[in-house]
Amino acid sequence: MIITIDGPAGSGKSTTARNLAEKLNISYLDTGATYRAVTLRALQNGVDLADEAALLKQAQQIDLKMTPGANGVVVEMDSHDVSEDIRSEEVSRDVRYAANTPVVREVLVDLQRKMGRQLGSFVTEGRDQGTVVFPNADVKFYLDADTDERAKRRHKEQTTRGTDADYDSVRESIIKRDESDKNRAVAPLRIPEGAVIVDTTAMTPEQVTEKLLACVKENF
Ligand code: C5P
Repeated sequence: MIITIDGPAGSGKSTTARNLAEKLNISYLDTGATYRAVTLRALQNGVDLADEAALLKQAQQIDLKMTPGANGVVVEMDSHDVSEDIRSEEVSRDVRYAANTPVVREVLVDLQRKMGRQLGSFVTEGRDQGTVVFPNADVKFYLDADTDERAKRRHKEQTTRGTDADYDSVRESIIKRDESDKNRAVAPLRIPEGAVIVDTTAMTPEQVTEKLLACVKENF
């Protein structure tokens, strides 16, 4: 069983994908982590992010392992746990370079499909999962929410994590990322054909999970 969840930052994809996977007793794939890890690696190695060939090299050389942990997915890059580091504001701000570089996307899409094959049945979340990476998925969802609500969620998440983030810059960063994700030439963020659209603005994470679970059960 393959279930895809696409949508913009802060729409509730990660929490929902994790909860839904747990309820269905299947795996969870966080594809944003692959773009974040390449970005972190490039930043650590002092690579010019606008240099596509150099960025591609980072993507080709990366050794990435993702395993389920108590607080979400544990991301190991080149044998180091980078689960926290890939969520920094710096990486969030710069991730658009990797996401907008077609040759990098090619490498990461291959990696995501390979991870999917290894997992068998899974819930995957990202921006192009139902449109490009797993177009034959069994059930597709598109989550969305108001910009202010999404910024509030991200800000709360970062404050809880102990990051000293200010609300306005988190909101600004989300708006810029939305623009970049929706307008890029390759695999832009789109509502997949046949996807169930859920506006999560006024919903609790539990309500979102229950709604998606009901849709999945209807389809099986
Ligand atoms: O979901 P997350 O916020 O971790 O994703 C980080 C960034 O990675 C997104 O803003 C987007 O630019 C990129 N991304 C993508 N395709 C995916 C998942 C993430 O382009 N499937």
